[in-house]
Amino acid sequence: MRQVLLALNLNLRRLILLLTILSVTCLFVFALFFINYTVKERLIDNSLALNAEYSSRIAVHTNYQFEEILKNLRFSTQVLGKNFSNESLRSSEAARLKSQSGNFNSVFLADSEGHIISFFPTTLKIDSKQIQKTYGITESLRHKQTYISSPYWSSTKKLIVIVSEPIFDDKGQYLGFIAGTIYLQSKNLVSEMLASKYGYKKNYTYVMDDQKRIIFHADTQQIGQKVQTSDGLTTMLNQQDGAFRLMNSKGIDSLVGFSHIPSVNWIVVSQQPIDELFAQANSIIFKVSIGITLFYLFIFFMVWRLSGFIALPLNHLAKMASMLSRPDVQEKINKIDPLYFEVDQFKNSLMLSCQNFNEKIDELNQSVNTDPLTGLYNRRGMNLFIEEFVRMRTEFAVLAVDIDFFKKVNDTYGHDKGDVVLKRLASVMKYHFRDNDICCRSGGEEFIILMATSDPEITFQAAERLRKAVQLTEMEYMGTVTISIGIAYWPRNSEDVEDVLRMADQKLYQAKHEGRNCTR
Ligand code: GH3
Ligand code: MG
Ligand code: MG
Repeated sequence: MRQVLLALNLNLRRLILLLTILSVTCLFVFALFFINYTVKERLIDNSLALNAEYSSRIAVHTNYQFEEILKNLRFSTQVLGKNFSNESLRSSEAARLKSQSGNFNSVFLADSEGHIISFFPTTLKIDSKQIQKTYGITESLRHKQTYISSPYWSSTKKLIVIVSEPIFDDKGQYLGFIAGTIYLQSKNLVSEMLASKYGYKKNYTYVMDDQKRIIFHADTQQIGQKVQTSDGLTTMLNQQDGAFRLMNSKGIDSLVGFSHIPSVNWIVVSQQPIDELFAQANSIIFKVSIGITLFYLFIFFMVWRLSGFIALPLNHLAKMASMLSRPDVQEKINKIDPLYFEVDQFKNSLMLSCQNFNEKIDELNQSVNTDPLTGLYNRRGMNLFIEEFVRMRTEFAVLAVDIDFFKKVNDTYGHDKGDVVLKRLASVMKYHFRDNDICCRSGGEEFIILMATSDPEITFQAAERLRKAVQLTEMEYMGTVTISIGIAYWPRNSEDVEDVLRMADQKLYQAKHEGRNCTR
């Protein structure tokens, strides 16, 4: 973690942005999960309710139709029971039942042995002398009461369901039955109702009987087939109505609403594949995500701008802290606007440090720390500056300066004249260095200059400027002298100041060895 943070080269501003991105991203991911969950949950609930409602409406309506059908059939059986042998009565009743309501595709009458003795429409090719043994007829004869068949293939090769009502005479003698047929694969009373297309998001509806056989289906291929066994089926057979989520036989996750038609004990099923619903939800969620992302980008931008207000004053103060030796630093610190508590505190304490530093400098300027001959700082003064630099962690360069062949000057012109050279050299030094560079006489004819910089280019140029200037300076009848300079840096060369001073000396001796009047 620490490694990663270090690699990011963080400052306060980047840190604020990073934290914002992190928290906003977490929020975004959470929101997305939450929206995804709630939208889908809500869609499922709505769709289940819709399917339940739809199947229930169809069931109620169909039930009403069948009650009407059964009422009509019963009425006919009473009329026919009194005069069953009257062929024209039988034919007219069959015709009336078929034509009046339009609920049946055909109507026929059978005697107690199974001969179809009357039917309508008369275009049907039925032999009345033959005993019919189809499923609907044998079952009607066997039941001798109201009977609604499962789907079966009729003698006329049609997949049908029959609704039959027994006929008895006055003495209760069973005479036969009257039956209406519904051609399942043609237009019929239930298919008419289901055809009033609901079809929302690939919703489809079918009807099955209590034997699980499909009676009506939009896909006519499926009519007459048995519904594949599944968990949902038991629920549908055991409950009056309801809704549930189901993995169907084709592995499609779907939502199911169902309702029983009490008069025939059939079940209306309204089914909705879930993919379609979710496709819609996903597209909504995608659009919402894009909206949120754009909004978040705007937030990031705002945070970036605002973080500037927070971080920049601190950043400036931090930079100031490392350059307290500069003369204009107090003024710069004063200019920083204390926008909030921490900056105010930091600013105040930095101002205090700066004052402290200046006081130290004043103290240094007193004679104890200066060399009486040259007016430069002496070794003690130099040490005080070094201590201060180290305490404030201000990077600095050490320039060790030594006059070349100075002994010769002394020997030739005398010690006093040598001192004149030293003074002259000090004034050249002061002239060529700025106020915040510290010029010191560290020993006899040796000097040290401290520069508050870590830039070798700047340091080297300053050293060379001095060296060339000295070379050109006339020393009162004594001609000119040259100097050699060695440079070292704190803390780049060593954390230990003594090491750095030693290194500057070594560089100086290197300059001497390499011919003097040069900088190393
Ligand atoms: P080099 O180029 O190797 O530096 O040769 P140099 O003759 O300058 O040798 P060195 O640096 O060792 O010389 C030091 C001399 O500086 C010894 C001494 O005569 C002279 N010296 C030291 N302090 C003073 C001083 O206060 N006044 C004067 N006039 N001369 C001093
Ligand atoms: Mg020397
Ligand atoms: Mg010397």
